[in-house]
Amino acid sequence: MMTVMDMREYRWSPDAKFIKRSDGNAVAVNFANSTKRVFGPAESSAISAFSGLTIPFVLEDSVSESLRAALIDGGFLVPEEDFAARDRMIRDAVRTIAEESSGLIIMPTEKCNFRCTYCYESFAKGRMRPERVDALAKVIETRIARARSFSLGFFGGEPLLCSDIILRLCGEAMAQCGRKGIFFGASMSTNAALLTPDLFEQLIRVGLVFFQVTLDGDRELHDRQRVTVKGKGTFDGIVAHLRAMAATSHEFTVALRCNVHVEDSERVLALFDSEELAFVRNDPRFMIDIHYIWASDRQTLAETSKEGCLSGLQAGLDKYALNAELSRRGLSTSSYDDVPGILGSACYAGKKNWFIVGADLKLYKCTVVFDNPKNNVGYIDLSGNMVIDQRLNRLWTGSNAETDSGCGSCYLRVPCGGLACPLTRFTSGSKGCLELRDAGNLRNWAERLSPPAAEQTDPLAIH
Ligand code: SF4
Ligand code: SF4
Repeated sequence: MMTVMDMREYRWSPDAKFIKRSDGNAVAVNFANSTKRVFGPAESSAISAFSGLTIPFVLEDSVSESLRAALIDGGFLVPEEDFAARDRMIRDAVRTIAEESSGLIIMPTEKCNFRCTYCYESFAKGRMRPERVDALAKVIETRIARARSFSLGFFGGEPLLCSDIILRLCGEAMAQCGRKGIFFGASMSTNAALLTPDLFEQLIRVGLVFFQVTLDGDRELHDRQRVTVKGKGTFDGIVAHLRAMAATSHEFTVALRCNVHVEDSERVLALFDSEELAFVRNDPRFMIDIHYIWASDRQTLAETSKEGCLSGLQAGLDKYALNAELSRRGLSTSSYDDVPGILGSACYAGKKNWFIVGADLKLYKCTVVFDNPKNNVGYIDLSGNMVIDQRLNRLWTGSNAETDSGCGSCYLRVPCGGLACPLTRFTSGSKGCLELRDAGNLRNWAERLSPPAAEQTDPLAIH
């Protein structure tokens, strides 16, 4: 059979990386469309000849039809005639989301029922007063009227100490978004101690579908760090609430954040192997999010570093080994089940229309440095007007993948947009890049991506 020669010119996508592994296989990942694929030795060797080329090229005849199709389908190879339009489309999409995405992260109280050993909160301000809740409700209504997409997040303190405020604000926002025909989904960082089955049902009904819950290892490790105000352990109550959530058929996501010391990694594996956490295995609604405590502890950051949330992560190479083990056990992990979409890894502080709302209606950009005067960018008055110092807001939003040429040519420009950590940009001058920007991290990530490449004969889409 005759093969028709393909004389078209292609380019390697600037958003794609091709990483060779020590086993002879290789991983291609395209950060523009969240596609990742593992290739066997023969395909890897063929792809090496052109991956990363920044100039147009013609494919050798030795590149098989199926490999060519897989690479074009995954967006790794872009026909030269489509390249400029595609690049424009990607830049436009990142710009549009950075400007038009709109949301508020609300602290209904700064008080908390826990006293975690590493917490940086001052617990200064209590429950948001009723007239302030009314003013905030008006702001939400106005912003939804102007927005193409709108989200609410809740943070604290422990937000569920004021679940009535959350239910009211989400219920109203959901109804307004529904009338306007736009999607509404809310998120919350909660310690889950008050997340009873009954309250969970109420929250789901008002669109609260994303929960970040912390479980710092097994019962002993967790109860050493995450204790109530009276010093009591909290592991059993949290696990009971998570188990009840898993027993429902609702669609939701729980990011189970584990702040652990490297030396406790084995105990974390044992926890997720255990019967008491069996309900999390093979349930993609639960996503394990490992943070090594010496690397990402926010109190440590606040006290010892001028940098932001992401500053220590590059040191956490072993994290990939632990995540790979968790994946093999049927658990979803933030490292291996989730290649973030457009601005999916950008900090809200870098987006023009995102603000943190304190219980006293002060407006902030960053959830780490509340005492930095540059973080207090305005307030909401009791008539429901947002008063924003745009000069201060621009300090957080002005540097991004459009204004920074290094970010504009970075393979992570789509998920990050140059907005990994606006705080570090204007404090230390560092971009605070995403962890996969580091070559060592990228290699470690690729080395441990399952399934084992030895099982593969053809290019295989992981998802
Ligand atoms: S700007 Fe964003 S990423 Fe940086 S420290 Fe603040 S919240 Fe964290
Ligand atoms: S901040 Fe770093 S990781 Fe993000 S786009 Fe810029 S160079 Fe890439």
